[in-house]
Amino acid sequence: MKWNNRWLSRLLPFFGDNMANNVVLEKDYANFARSLFILLLVLVLTPLTIISGLSHYQYKQLLQKEELTQLMLNIEQAESTIERFVSKLQSVVRFVGSADRYEELLNPDKLKALFTRLQEEYPDFADIEIIDSQGKQKSYIGPYKLVGYDHTEQQWYQEVLNRGVYISHVFSGYRQVPHFVIAVSRKHLDREGSWVLRVTIDGKILQRYVDTISTTSVADIYMVDADNVAQTQPRKFGKLGQKIRLHVPEKVNYDSSTILPIALSFFDFKHLEKVNYDLSNDFSEHEGIAQKDAKISVLKTEQGTDVLYVDVALKNTPWHLVMVKELYIHGNAWFFFQLRLFFILFSCIIIAVLVILKISTGITAYIREGDRKREHFLAEAESASKLASIGQLAAGVAHEINNPLSIINQKAGLVEDYFEMTGPFQYKKEMQGALDGIQESVLRCKTITHRLLGFARHTDVQTEEIEINVLLKEVVAFLAKEATYNQISIDFDLDDTVQNIFSDRSQLQQVFLNIVNNAVDAIGKNGRILLSSSKIDQDTIKIKITDTGEGMSADVQRRIFDPFFTTKETGKGTGLGLSISYGILKKLGGTIKVQSEIGKGTTFVITLPVTHD
Ligand code: ADP
Repeated sequence: MKWNNRWLSRLLPFFGDNMANNVVLEKDYANFARSLFILLLVLVLTPLTIISGLSHYQYKQLLQKEELTQLMLNIEQAESTIERFVSKLQSVVRFVGSADRYEELLNPDKLKALFTRLQEEYPDFADIEIIDSQGKQKSYIGPYKLVGYDHTEQQWYQEVLNRGVYISHVFSGYRQVPHFVIAVSRKHLDREGSWVLRVTIDGKILQRYVDTISTTSVADIYMVDADNVAQTQPRKFGKLGQKIRLHVPEKVNYDSSTILPIALSFFDFKHLEKVNYDLSNDFSEHEGIAQKDAKISVLKTEQGTDVLYVDVALKNTPWHLVMVKELYIHGNAWFFFQLRLFFILFSCIIIAVLVILKISTGITAYIREGDRKREHFLAEAESASKLASIGQLAAGVAHEINNPLSIINQKAGLVEDYFEMTGPFQYKKEMQGALDGIQESVLRCKTITHRLLGFARHTDVQTEEIEINVLLKEVVAFLAKEATYNQISIDFDLDDTVQNIFSDRSQLQQVFLNIVNNAVDAIGKNGRILLSSSKIDQDTIKIKITDTGEGMSADVQRRIFDPFFTTKETGKGTGLGLSISYGILKKLGGTIKVQSEIGKGTTFVITLPVTHD
């Protein structure tokens, strides 16, 4: 068989040319079934896997986006609350340090009265001081005696002069209490230079604000300065006044197995590809974040869990607000989605494998059956054409031999006539015997040529009504003597209801006689022959002739209908019996089949139509 599509033939290797070799052929069928199975499996599983992978990826994106959006909203709220609060503090300090109040504030009593009022509103204000244009402290209300302290060398002092306002990061200083400073500078109205109002505020005020916005939905929320030093007390990731351990590093070594069940890590494209990814771009459309200096990342904590980390710079302050949230990816929704997806995928694969297995074995069986039928028809056609050509040859030979045979017969008859007319002479009797021998042989030759001619032309069919059971008994009667002699019992299992058929009596006799004869030969001595008749349907009957003879090999079975095929010794068999029977049955609209096993026996199954044109 040739496959035109080369690629397909490569995918589905078909059968070799050795169709006659059953072992090779079976191997070819098995190969074909296997290749078909693999091909179909790949065709089905590829889209299935791609779809599952995509939905896994999409759902994960969706979850991440959702939780990021949530986090963004949280942090925006928190950020604006703190920014508003810090700006309010600044306004208060600005208001207290109005430009025209310098002289008034130098007065300790007035400053004290003002500070007391301030503390009533903001108990976390720790101290207040006024610094003149030379950087010297002029007036101070608070727990420490710092009058006369020179600030000129300090960085904050330069900064407040330059920018008008200054907010420090949280530090402990010699107070040993975390605090921060807000300072404003004002130009003297009547002379050169600027004076400065500096307020120290307890760091707890920030802590309280952060605490109020902290929710259980986030793992941690805290403030840091530009060096990542905690300005408020983080819940999990560090200590107030110390550098926070959790930060955006250059690169993180990522171990996917800590996040997902190993079986599904295969689909975890994003995690495997981009380990520590910056999500800021994904959220650039998020208005609040776009305008701010925000960093959004997925980080790995020391405990090995993944967290979403958002860091927003707070406007006009030295601080950043940081919110940390455990990745939703660890949550139940994600876990169950993966579990469901895994089970759906797994069951689809199992079902696909079973169905494809069934399909591929089914198709292979279908092809095998088709091949078998085709082979059978080919063999039949081959033997029919062989029969036809041998028939023609035999007819030619028989025809040619018939003429000289007639002459021999005629001349022998003539010699016989002369013998009768002639009186006795020496050796007359012997010569008469020889003459009889010649005539007998001529007769035998005529029977053979007649058979050969019949084989070729199959002589005309003489249709008559036949009771098949009676016909079978008649045939057996011919051979009864020989069978009894060889201790062969011939039994019948005849169906009384079997229909009479319309066919050629003498040709059918020839067929059955030949088959029973072969059965007797195959048994030799001691055995049994069973003839049975039955009805297949309204139009067909079946005759079975079974013997307990030597049986036939598969090879012999294939050739028994070939003309001149015989396994009998020379002189005993002609090899024409079954081929003629085959031809006759075909002509009468019937069929003949053989089943045989060496050492067990043989059964010939014949079907005949009830009527035949
Ligand atoms: P012949 O009988 O002259 O050999 P046939 O055409 O009738 O020719 O038979 C062909 C061959 O088929 C036989 O030589 C024999 O080998 C085989 N054969 C036929 N019938 C039987 C049978 N009942 N049991 C075993 N072999 C058989």
